[in-house]
Amino acid sequence: MVTGASRGIGRAIAIAMAEAGADVVVNYSKPGPAADAVCAEVRRLGVRAWAYQADVANEEQVNVMAEALRKDTGPVGILVNCAGITRDKSFVKMTRSMWDEVLAVNLGGPFNTTRAFLPGMFELGWGRVINISSIVGQWGNFGQANYASAKGGLISFTMTLARELARKNITANAVAPGFIETDMTKDLPESAKEQVNALTPVGRMGTPDEVAAGVAFLASPRASYITGQVLAINGGMYM
Ligand code: NAD
Repeated sequence: MVTGASRGIGRAIAIAMAEAGADVVVNYSKPGPAADAVCAEVRRLGVRAWAYQADVANEEQVNVMAEALRKDTGPVGILVNCAGITRDKSFVKMTRSMWDEVLAVNLGGPFNTTRAFLPGMFELGWGRVINISSIVGQWGNFGQANYASAKGGLISFTMTLARELARKNITANAVAPGFIETDMTKDLPESAKEQVNALTPVGRMGTPDEVAAGVAFLASPRASYITGQVLAINGGMYM
């Protein structure tokens, strides 16, 4: 189950998981052809795919989605919390609603989905929770007090889940991407992109596939003794 999987990093994760042999549920928030297109790509890889709409910030919608999924596909073993938004402004200019909106999606979303999908993992006796955090959650960022707080909180949430769920055979890890080429970063001014490249030892932004590879590894049986970790995929920008 990948939230926010109709484009960007979520889409790449859905495809990487399919390549690894997993059936994939594509969660999306806004109606449109994108989620179905991802499902079609996933099916071409020989696994099953379903698209389910839910705003992850809306607990009721998430619970309805989880209930429907349970009936249609059975319990979900791997949850990737990828849906995220930005509402950037320097802190003194940031409004309460910009703060609330980002916290509701980026941190409230994983609360809602993890609560909804854990019972299925208990039933399976196995599970993986993978939270897409950010380099910004590790070192802050100008203009992103809301986003940094949510992504930093997501790391602490992950570590707590790891401690609470280990004996249930469920691991919880976070992935912290650096600057990745997606719709989220496409409007960054050229000067900001140049600055990012200059601060990144690898010298360029990352691709969604490079993030997805790390997620697929953490979801795989090979990562069974890894829990409570933050896998940084940032070209060496923060270490
Ligand atoms: P994106 O904007 O391309 O994709 C985000 C996806 O989340 C979209 O499909 C969007 O529809 C979905 N979404 C947003 N709000 C939602 C909601 N309430 N319910 C369900 N789905 C919702 O951005 P991306 O770059 O692919 O980002 C994916 C994740 O990676 C986000 O959590 C983001 O914070 C994180 N991230 C991105 C970067 C980057 O540089 N692009 C870096 C670090 C972390």
